[in-house]
Amino acid sequence: MKDTFKHRGMRNQLAQILIDKGIKDTAVLEAIRDVPRHLFMDSGFEGHAYLDKAFPIAADQTISQPYTVAFQTELLELTPRMTVLEIGTGSGYQTAVLLKCKAKVYTIERQLELFKKTNLFFKKMGYRPKKVIFGDGYKGLPEAAPFDRIIVTAGAPEVPKALLSQLKIGGRLVIPVGFKEQIMTLYQRTSDKEFEKTEYGSFRFVPLLEDKN
Ligand code: SAH
Repeated sequence: MKDTFKHRGMRNQLAQILIDKGIKDTAVLEAIRDVPRHLFMDSGFEGHAYLDKAFPIAADQTISQPYTVAFQTELLELTPRMTVLEIGTGSGYQTAVLLKCKAKVYTIERQLELFKKTNLFFKKMGYRPKKVIFGDGYKGLPEAAPFDRIIVTAGAPEVPKALLSQLKIGGRLVIPVGFKEQIMTLYQRTSDKEFEKTEYGSFRFVPLLEDKN
């Protein structure tokens, strides 16, 4: 599959839909216009790539809805060269959006099949996260902590303590919390022991699963 003029046109329309839904961050919108989402999905589903919809990928997982990706990325309030930990690499689409926003990204995936597939895909496409890790995102990544930003792209029954502890003071953690439905939640670390919590609307994610090993 290729990226064509037509695909770019569809991405411009998608960005407009996201603007109409309230996304304002110009770097985020630029990333949406730039990242060829159709290449992150299995071929044959191209027609779905630029609708504002989630879509199945390998291993019973989903590529998040573009609005959700834009909403979470906007909440991060990224500036260039920040270190970001992403939990739930999945298709790698969110990772690519973070990279386009000039973040240094560490990303963790617990499904071996997806980890391998997406890791290869990044190489093929020339996307360069700092590290793609096969492991359990509940534990975060202590060896690379603390992070400026942490983003969780699967629904967590509660916020993992390890992730809060791996956030820099002044840092932001964006995580969907809940079982059947999730509330998008922002934690800002204001001091060593204090966090400010803000809740946004409800979303639907595949579950963040504990390590099965
Ligand atoms: N960011 C992805 C969203 C994928 S869906 C994208 O844009 O495509 C969420 C992903 O989180 C799935 O791939 C799932 O396997 C992964 N996941 C679930 N629990 C996890 C955990 N404990 N650690 C790391 N990844 C996890």
